[in-house]
Amino acid sequence: LKQKGRDGWQFFNDYQHHQALQRLNVTLGLRLAIEREELEARFQPIVSSDRSRIVGAELLLRWFPPQGEVSPGIFIPIAEMSGAILPIGLWVFREGCRAEVEWRRRWGAHAPYVSINLSARQLTDESLLDEMRRVLMETAADPTRITLEVTETALMADIDANIRMLRRLTDMGLRLAVDDFGTGYSSLAQLTRLPVDILKIDRAFVDGIETHHESRTVVRAVISLGRSLGLQLVAEGVETQGQHLELMSGGCDLFQGYLFHAPMKPKELILAVNEQLRQ
Ligand code: C2E
Ligand code: CA
Ligand code: CA
Ligand code: CA
Repeated sequence: LKQKGRDGWQFFNDYQHHQALQRLNVTLGLRLAIEREELEARFQPIVSSDRSRIVGAELLLRWFPPQGEVSPGIFIPIAEMSGAILPIGLWVFREGCRAEVEWRRRWGAHAPYVSINLSARQLTDESLLDEMRRVLMETAADPTRITLEVTETALMADIDANIRMLRRLTDMGLRLAVDDFGTGYSSLAQLTRLPVDILKIDRAFVDGIETHHESRTVVRAVISLGRSLGLQLVAEGVETQGQHLELMSGGCDLFQGYLFHAPMKPKELILAVNEQLRQ
C-alpha cells in the first residue's frame, strides 16, 4: 500500500514538475518573442450566408520559438498569468490595425472587417485605452472596421468595471463581440448592459448540433436571443455541411470554421479575397 501511494505521489510530482518547467520556459521565452520576431498573425475568414463571401477575418496569434511552434492554447494562458499578454496584446492590436488599413486600401468597401481577441487581463490594464488610441492614430486604422472579441467568462468576471472599459472602447468606434458565448452564465439583463454588437456561438455547441439535442436547443435559443437584441451572430467551428444548414435554418448570419477556411497567412487571405471578387 505504501509503495503504491508513493508511486502515485511520485507521478503527480513529476507531472507538476513538468508543468512548472513548461510554464517557466514559456514565460522566459515570451519575454523575448516580440523583439526576436517570433510572433505571426494568421487570419481565419468569417463568411456570410450569401454564397459564403468573406466579410471578416479573425486574427489568431502564432508563436514560433527556436524549439518549434507552441500553440496559443498553451502560451496564451501563461502569458495572461505572467503579464506578457499586455505587450503581446498590443502587438496583436497593431497587426490587426495594419491589416485593416491594407485591406481597405486594396478593396475599399469590400474589405473584410478585422476581429481581434482581447484577454481579460488586458481589460484591467489602465494604459490599454491610451495605447490603443495611439496605435489607431499611428496606423490610421478605421476603428469601426475592427471588432474586439472578449470571452463571455472574462466579461462577466467583473461586469461593472468591464462595462466602463468597454464603453470607452466602443466610444472610440471599436465594435465588440462576445466570444465563446453560451459557455458562461450571463443573463439577458447583463447582456443588455454591455455595448455588444456580435455574439459568437461557442464551437462546443456547434460541434454537437447534429448529434445532441441539448446543443441544438442552446444554439437555437442563443440565435433567437441575439436576434431579439439586434445583434449579429457568428457560429464558430463549423466543420460540416449539416451544421451549416442547421445554423442557417436557425437564423445565424455569419460562419467561421474549417468547412469554409482554416486560419491562413496574410498573403493567402489576400489571394482568397481577390479570388472571390473575380467571381
Ligand atoms: P478562439 O478565440 O475561440 O479561436 C478559435 C479557435 O478555434 C482557433 O484556435 C481556431 O484555429 C480554431 N478553429 C477555427 N475553426 C475551427 C474548426 O472548424 N474546428 C476546430 N476544431 N477548431 C477551429 P487557435 O488559433 O489555436 O486559438 C486558440 C485560442 O487562443 C483562441 O480561441 C483564443 O482564445 C486564443 N488566442 C488566439 N490568438 C489570440 C490573441 O491574439 N490574443 C488572445 N488574447 N488570445 C488569442
Ligand atoms: Ca476568438
Ligand atoms: Ca471563440
Ligand atoms: Ca474557444
